[in-house]
Amino acid sequence: LEAKLQQAKKMEAIGTLAGGVAHDLNNILSGIVSYPELILMDIPEKSPLRKPLLTMQKSGEKAVEIVQDLLTMARRGVSITEVVNLNHIIVEQLNSPEMKKLKSFHPDVMIHADLDESLLNINVSPIHIAKCITNLISNAAEAMPEGGQIEISTENIYLSTPMKGYETIEEGDYVKLAVADNGVGMSEDVAERIFEPFFTKKKMGRSGTGLGMAVVWGTVKDHNGYIDIESSEGKGATFYLYFPVTREPLKREEDGLRFEALTGN
Ligand code: ADP
Ligand code: MG
Repeated sequence: LEAKLQQAKKMEAIGTLAGGVAHDLNNILSGIVSYPELILMDIPEKSPLRKPLLTMQKSGEKAVEIVQDLLTMARRGVSITEVVNLNHIIVEQLNSPEMKKLKSFHPDVMIHADLDESLLNINVSPIHIAKCITNLISNAAEAMPEGGQIEISTENIYLSTPMKGYETIEEGDYVKLAVADNGVGMSEDVAERIFEPFFTKKKMGRSGTGLGMAVVWGTVKDHNGYIDIESSEGKGATFYLYFPVTREPLKREEDGLRFEALTGN
């Protein structure tokens, strides 16, 4: 436990530092990334400059993504909270263009959702929670290069006893999200480090920047939630996220309707 607390402090420090850098970079980047597109509109179709400009545009987009992740992680991102039902966010994410792209990269990965219809509401920043879900799903898919099954589930749960790695738990009602895969899994050593910003076992570039789980950690902390991992090497991994329940009702009725439309209920 001592080691866990040290770890949390270290991450806090790295996060603060990275957040400061990201804040400056964000301003600088916004003065750069919009230009390739403008220039592209104005140069001839056959110009040899198109290719480098497109590369510039792609790199710029990647840089913006990393900086956004850093800002989220350092909790400097805009956090407007809203009363939502976690199921709605999950269904929306599963139907997002981003998820279609992921599925096309991993055609042999099946995603199954088992969502509790009586799930209570939570008061959260929907975009940040959505990002957590995508990060967990993409990690799960990447952990199954030969294909496999991702199981997403939600339920209401009463927490009272400490979980591993936590000194105390704020006793009360929580919404529990589980994302499970039957992929490569991870060792204890890896599990201890995955929330560190820039920690990755993947080749840099295509998939990994090592910020995905740092973002998840920052978001969960930011929402007074908890996170837990169950994993063994070769057998897969399950991530559990807990968010405190709110008694407030959904603000917008159409949220419920949109959910029904998406699930076909
Ligand atoms: P990245 O995906 O860019 O490597 P993340 O922060 O998302 O960064 O994850 C960090 C590391 O945690 C991964 O490189 C991987 O080693 C490990 N990891 C995360 N999720 C899983 C999973 N579902 N199964 C196995 N290992 C995982
Ligand atoms: Mg990742």
